[in-house]
Amino acid sequence: MTFQLAERLSRISEPQTIKMAKLSRELKAQGIDIIDLSIGEPDFDTPVHIRDAAKKALDEGYTHYTPVAGYADLRAAVAQKFKRDNKLDYTAEQIVVSTGAKQSIANLVLSVVNPGDEVIIPTPYWVTYSELVRLCHGDIKFVACSVENNYKITPAQLEAAITPKTKLFMFSSPCNPSGSVYSKAELEGLAAVFQRHPQVYIMSDEIYEYINYSGPHESIAQFPAIKDQVIIINGLSKGFAMTGWRLGYTASALPLAKAFDKIQSQFTSATSSISQRAAVTALTGDLLTAQSMVEEFRKRRDFIAAGLAAIPGLKVNEPEGAFYMFPDISAFFGKSFEGETIENADDLCMFLLHKAHVSTVAGGAFGTPNCIRLSYATSMDKLGKGLERLGTWLGKLS
Ligand code: PMP
Repeated sequence: MTFQLAERLSRISEPQTIKMAKLSRELKAQGIDIIDLSIGEPDFDTPVHIRDAAKKALDEGYTHYTPVAGYADLRAAVAQKFKRDNKLDYTAEQIVVSTGAKQSIANLVLSVVNPGDEVIIPTPYWVTYSELVRLCHGDIKFVACSVENNYKITPAQLEAAITPKTKLFMFSSPCNPSGSVYSKAELEGLAAVFQRHPQVYIMSDEIYEYINYSGPHESIAQFPAIKDQVIIINGLSKGFAMTGWRLGYTASALPLAKAFDKIQSQFTSATSSISQRAAVTALTGDLLTAQSMVEEFRKRRDFIAAGLAAIPGLKVNEPEGAFYMFPDISAFFGKSFEGETIENADDLCMFLLHKAHVSTVAGGAFGTPNCIRLSYATSMDKLGKGLERLGTWLGKLS
């Protein structure tokens, strides 16, 4: 029988990141020693005190539906986190807890984007942004950011991209995939532009807040004139090594929070009761795990950045946050090995996967087709082996 699926499915694609992770797993299952640099999650375990809180929650009977936007004390703990870490004032009612930052982004896009609305996305960007806008029939305006400006949009580029139809601007800092981090001065420059366009919502994805090597995290919500335009996306996946727990949240103006609550009430009802109890413990505790992860990530970043810079043909930026490298690999386009020619980043990723047995992600999925993304959320030993293989196999292309 032919299965008639809805038209919207043809408008979106499965994330390239998830596809590559799946391919790597398949090759590993065949016994091939794959160095997986495609992964987007910390290779650390959730801290013990957080896991203990989840076990306690089960024993105490937290096994029922929760309020859609999360337990009241969890929303209060998130509001308190914003005061503690970001000096931002939000009430608990302005916080909506979700099944991961990804759902928070979906809540936002579904709540504000009408068909034909324009959404500005600077490239490179995280894969899900564009697909959610496509699901809602929004028109995406990509703004290409150059490696010379460390892949960050300038106020002039932003001003030029905004039209009366612009509804939403979507960005992350620290950025996945480039690792770029906007300084306070850079955010202030963008905020001045947004102040002139109060109809534009600003999605500030701060999921990598704690994984920042350049100093304290800065949020664009800190500028009072535009604070109500900003929707902060955050969650526990990266900073607390809790990807599988599925816990994200937003902070926004109250009418938006109410909209997210309404959307979520029809999609998921809420995230897991157990994850929410564990999240209270995570958010009210210390940040020692995040700090020790960052120190480890910093060592790996220095190691892999130096290693990649030494490979002829790779143009490497220096990431200031997150755990990804995003080298420009266009020097290899047109080169061949044993009759196989590399036409684009997808070809190079497949070449690296099947020949070097190193898994990476092609930059096209992030809107920057001249690059590939490598995650350094893996051991130094594996990074060392991965670099060696990359050097050897890229060297064979001529
Ligand atoms: N935003 C960015 C920039 C991400 O990299 C990710 C995860 N890869 C998410 C959001 C989604 O995070 P979560 O696991 O909380 O859904």
